[in-house]
Amino acid sequence: MTSLTLFERIIARDIPATVVYEDDKFIAIKDIAPKAPTHLLVIPKKVSTRIDEIVDPSEMGELWLTAIKVAREQLGDYRLVVNVGKGGGQEVPHTHIHILGGWEGPVPY
Ligand code: 5GP
Repeated sequence: MTSLTLFERIIARDIPATVVYEDDKFIAIKDIAPKAPTHLLVIPKKVSTRIDEIVDPSEMGELWLTAIKVAREQLGDYRLVVNVGKGGGQEVPHTHIHILGGWEGPVPY
């Protein structure tokens, strides 16, 4: 039996999440434990464990272009973050890009 990643289960609506964007290749959801006033996750439906496993330039480009599209729609100004591997702070082993923003006043590093 293959086990699904947490984000595959969210994509399958097996685990609830607030979906802010979806197409045939990507989903964007609100982070359950936001580290900014707005904190979204852009997740490819095609599973890879970490972003540096993606070697196809068009696949990589589509991921970033989707993150930028969602960020521009939702925020205007924003920060994009990718944690890569446990040592990079990655907790969920399914590639995703964090969109953070919505701060009032000084922006934390
Ligand atoms: P990572 O540390 O892997 O880069 O980021 C994983 C993110 O997923 C974290 O910011 C965490 O708060 C978020 N997260 C973990 N579990 C859930 C969940 O069940 N639902 C949602 N929406 N976000 C989650």
